[in-house]
Amino acid sequence: MLPDLSNISTVLLDMDGTLLDLHFDDFFWNQYLHRRYAQIHGVPTSDAATFISRRLDAAVGSLNWYCTDYWSSEFNLDILKLKRELVHLIRYRTGTRAFLDCLAETQLQVILVTNAHPDVLALKHDETGLLGHIPNRVTSHDYGAPKESPEFWKQLRAAHEFDPAEALLIDDSIPVLTAARCYGIGITLGISQPNSSGPSGSADGFFQVDDLSTLNPLLAGHITSQGPGTRPWHQDQPGALDPGLHEGATDRG
Ligand SMILES: [Mg+2]
Repeated sequence: MLPDLSNISTVLLDMDGTLLDLHFDDFFWNQYLHRRYAQIHGVPTSDAATFISRRLDAAVGSLNWYCTDYWSSEFNLDILKLKRELVHLIRYRTGTRAFLDCLAETQLQVILVTNAHPDVLALKHDETGLLGHIPNRVTSHDYGAPKESPEFWKQLRAAHEFDPAEALLIDDSIPVLTAARCYGIGITLGISQPNSSGPSGSADGFFQVDDLSTLNPLLAGHITSQGPGTRPWHQDQPGALDPGLHEGATDRG
């Protein structure tokens, strides 16, 4: 079952596992990093896997869990450099491009809201051009609080003009959907298979979708003939495209 989207005015979009295939992230943290850590530090892969998994588990839900600087320090290696070794796995989920094209024909305010570290956001933009489709973007590192925290939503509301009750959030994380709902985000929508190579999950208590383009017919009432360039939030917006994210990313790390 899908929600009624006829009364929304803002769309908040998660990145990893929602717009982009979570396979890259799952494979990196749960397999590739184990192997590379073992090679770099000269330890058995099984020992590396145990060590890394324990450290990751201890940080779940905190901003550190999403911080490449933190993990580079914890594991004494360059996380961003290792991620670049797998850029061929960074890709859109099925239906994302058609969904973003549809949103571009509406007057809806669209904001990317991600827990990804800014350097990882830049890396993913370089591979996909994602930010060219979404004028506004926020990473929780800007606010010092992950999306799982009420503090993130308070700061998002303070920084952007939007009515939470008229907002749609699409996110593959149940803790994030729960925090957003508690804050008052009107419609919270989960993703049934964030990793194209992984199992389908269930988001009990939340609306759920897999191919985002199945939402396009529900946005029909928001499509205008004015085109995206007329959107008032398209100009002079603090969260509008940062040239650094376009051009400097390949020099990072
Ligand atoms: Mg996600």
